[in-house]
Amino acid sequence: MTVITRFAPSPTGYLHVGGARTALFSWLYARKTQGEFVLRIEDTDRERSTEASVQAILDGMSWLGLDHDRGPIYQTDRFDRYNEVIQQLLEEGKAYRCYHSQAELDDMREQQKARGDKPRYDGSCRNLAEYPEDQPHVIRFRNPIEGSVYIDDLVRGQIEISNSELDDLIIARTDGTPTYNFTVVVDDWDMGITHVIRGDDHINNTPKQINILRALGAEVPKYAHVPMILGDDGKRLSKRHGAVGVMQYRDDGYLPQALLNYLVRLGWSHGDQEIFNVDEMIELFSLEGINRAPSAFNTEKLNWLNQHYMKTLPTSEVAQHLDWHLKEQGIEVSDKSVLEVLIPLFSERCETLKQLASQMRYMFEDVSEFNANAAKKHLKVSAAAPLKLLKEKMQSLNEWSAENIESAIEQTMTELEIGMGKIGMPLRVAITGAGQSPAMNILCSVLGKGICNQRIELALEFIEQRRLQSEQR
Ligand code: GLU
Repeated sequence: MTVITRFAPSPTGYLHVGGARTALFSWLYARKTQGEFVLRIEDTDRERSTEASVQAILDGMSWLGLDHDRGPIYQTDRFDRYNEVIQQLLEEGKAYRCYHSQAELDDMREQQKARGDKPRYDGSCRNLAEYPEDQPHVIRFRNPIEGSVYIDDLVRGQIEISNSELDDLIIARTDGTPTYNFTVVVDDWDMGITHVIRGDDHINNTPKQINILRALGAEVPKYAHVPMILGDDGKRLSKRHGAVGVMQYRDDGYLPQALLNYLVRLGWSHGDQEIFNVDEMIELFSLEGINRAPSAFNTEKLNWLNQHYMKTLPTSEVAQHLDWHLKEQGIEVSDKSVLEVLIPLFSERCETLKQLASQMRYMFEDVSEFNANAAKKHLKVSAAAPLKLLKEKMQSLNEWSAENIESAIEQTMTELEIGMGKIGMPLRVAITGAGQSPAMNILCSVLGKGICNQRIELALEFIEQRRLQSEQR
């Protein structure tokens, strides 16, 4: 049997973290079993579905690398098929027309509530003598009255729901359009879905769907209902907790690999292993490994994973994503190979690509001003002599290399009998504008002789201004 899974989002918003995790689990299971992964867009709610949401979902999936083998299939393209199945159920007496108006149904509910009964459709149109087609009506599925529905949920275990708890579900509205639970059933059936992996907010729909599948003579798929995701405060994850749309994570500077690793651990585990690259996830993923308890979002852990992948993925891969962020921040990089040198240096002190990009700005643009504190502390009048000497030594280097720049710094220290702080820090502020940066000799070697010379000269001018000002006082 070939495993066929699906991700079936309703395009009523962006692809959120919960949806992305469901998609990931379905995708992983299909990839692991060499099965098929179907992408189905459940867009029958025309008022709430938008083109922009469809695009956001497709973009999110593709950014995460969750490729599909079939689809996207749009439910709105399948109305003829849904109507065909509705007709079939009507002809077989497995569905019937129901003529109660909304007002009558409301009345029915009120009376049931007053009697202390559970409000539900009472089935009074189940056995009418005639079913005129030209009177306003909905179509209801004739749910079995007796017995129970059993779900052997792959996450939750055995669940039994008595049919007496379920009423006759509306499968087509008065305007003839099919309803949500019905379209899901027809699609899962037609698409040969073997494993339905979805959020446990759908668990109440499952017995209804199983009954309809049975009535159609369809194979009932296996179900795995995945627990929800909570925010770090234990409440259901929502916008309050920060970014919830997948593309927002891209914008905030996360690598798709980090988010995938983070998502797979949200509700699934393999011993106490935390780091999984995509190949490992595929190899180790199992539905049995999905946790029953809800999992809580933890931004610190995501940041930790992101930094881990910035440091360990091939720099060429990180460079591609970084380049996107540099552009976003208006930083043009002509020679991309430079990024591969800079990434290992800068990722030590950054958790996101966004930080990485902004911290590297001075490697691609002039330093327009010195950080006030750093300048106050390190571009003092006493720093002029060491900086001048170092500038000369650097200028006279024949080969511009990190090693030779390091020797120039050391010689300056020896000749002037000063420590690293008295030359390294002024140089740092001169070159980067800031008081913190990766190793100066490497940065200088990347920047080139001309730029370093220029920046040191600017810093010397700054010091000179400062000296003049202090003399005037
Ligand atoms: N369209 C549903 C949703 O976005 C998912 C339905 C399903 O997976 O069966 O919540």
